Amino acid sequence: MYDYHLHTEYSFDSMIKGKELMEKAIRLGYKEIAITEHLDLLPFEAKNNGIPALKKYWNYCKNLQKEHPQITLHCGLEIGDYHRTKDYALELIEGFDFFPIMGSVHILEDNTNVAILLNKQLSKEHTIEYYKQNLDLVTNCDINILGHLGVYKRYYSERIDESFVYPIIKDIFEVMIARNIYLEVNLSSLYKPYQMIIPEPEMLQMFKEMGGTLISIGSDTHRLDKFEDNTSILQRFKLPSEPLKRFR
Ligand SMILES: [Zn+2]
Ligand SMILES: [Zn+2]
Repeated sequence: MYDYHLHTEYSFDSMIKGKELMEKAIRLGYKEIAITEHLDLLPFEAKNNGIPALKKYWNYCKNLQKEHPQITLHCGLEIGDYHRTKDYALELIEGFDFFPIMGSVHILEDNTNVAILLNKQLSKEHTIEYYKQNLDLVTNCDINILGHLGVYKRYYSERIDESFVYPIIKDIFEVMIARNIYLEVNLSSLYKPYQMIIPEPEMLQMFKEMGGTLISIGSDTHRLDKFEDNTSILQRFKLPSEPLKRFR
C-alpha cells in the first residue's frame, strides 16, 4: 500500500506532525508514502500563506526517513499553478532533489480558487479554462504527477455532463502519456459531497484506452485522523496497490 499525496506541518493548511504520520503509516501497513507539501507561489498566496522553508523541510524528510527505516518516505512537493510561477519555482527548488513533483491547478485567472468550497458550480467558461490550465501545466512543466484533475467537483452533490471538455482532457492525457506523467487518482473527493474518486472511473478508462498506464494514488490528507488504510477503496476501483516501480 502506498500514498503519494500527503500534507504535513510545512503545508500552511495541515497540522499533521511528520513523526506521527510515519508511525501511523507503519502501523497501517503502508510500504511507501510521499509528503507533498504545498509550494504556492502566486503573489497573493505567497503573501497570505508564506513559502515553506525548503531547506528545513528537506532535512525534516531526511530525519524522518532515518528514524523510520521500515517504510520508504519520498520528499515531494505539490506545486500549485506551476506553469504560472515556473521561473520562481525552479529557482527555489534548484539544488534539491524533491520527488515526486506534483503539479496542480488551484487558481483560475480571475483568482477563483477551485480547490475550496465554491458557492456554486463552475461556469462552462471556468470549466474550460480549468482544463486549459491543466494542459498548459503538463505541457510546460517537468512534473512527475498531475494532481487531482477535476478537483472543483469535490463539493458537487451530483455528477454532471462535462462532455464539452472531453477534447481538452484528451489533449491533456496525450501530453501526459508522451511525457510519462502519472495521473493521480485523488481519494479526497470520496469523503466530500461528490463521494467519488477524481478523475472518475470513466476518465481513467479514457486514459487507459489512449494507452495511459501510469496511475498514482493520493489521499491528499491534511489531518491524521483521516489517514486510513485505503485497501478497500483501491479494490473497489481496481486501482494499483503496490508501490510504483519508477518511484524506487
Ligand atoms: Zn491541491
Ligand atoms: Zn494536496
